[in-house]
Amino acid sequence: MKAFIKSLFLIELLKGLRLTGRYFFARKVTLQYPEEKAPISPRFRGLHALRRYPNGEERCIACKLCEAVCPALAITIESEQRDDGTRRTTKYDIDLSKCIFCGYCEESCPVDSIVETHIYEYHGEVRGDLYMTKEKLLAVGDKYETTIAAARANDAQYR
Ligand code: SF4
Ligand code: SF4
Repeated sequence: MKAFIKSLFLIELLKGLRLTGRYFFARKVTLQYPEEKAPISPRFRGLHALRRYPNGEERCIACKLCEAVCPALAITIESEQRDDGTRRTTKYDIDLSKCIFCGYCEESCPVDSIVETHIYEYHGEVRGDLYMTKEKLLAVGDKYETTIAAARANDAQYR
């Protein structure tokens, strides 16, 4: 009998309409990505970059701390000593298909060279696209240095 009355007065339908109406007038939470972007944490870890000093010199001193600390074994470094006695990398690769974006590499770097930017809009169409060579990493650093420096300054307050 109860089911019959519910069916007769379309109770379930009215309940459904009430729910629809409630969400129809509620504040919208859906974003029209990519035109609208969601806020990200100041400590967000995105695409890696290698930085330079303002005079153009590479920051990286090939100490290999980042390579040693990387839990995913995603970093490969080879280095040599230059004529002036300093050491620099001849190869610095990060395989992003292995990387788990833990941030250990940038935490371990004594010269703020390897960093994880706030860039998340990138992709690879073949596996090689996600293999970041030193040239690619430096290119990211060169392109976004202003943003990276500002983000690092902002990030310092969270340390
Ligand atoms: S973020 Fe973590 S996993 Fe990725 S390269 Fe750095 S240390 Fe390795
Ligand atoms: S990026 Fe930093 S931690 Fe890694 S080898 Fe270079 S100086 Fe050392």
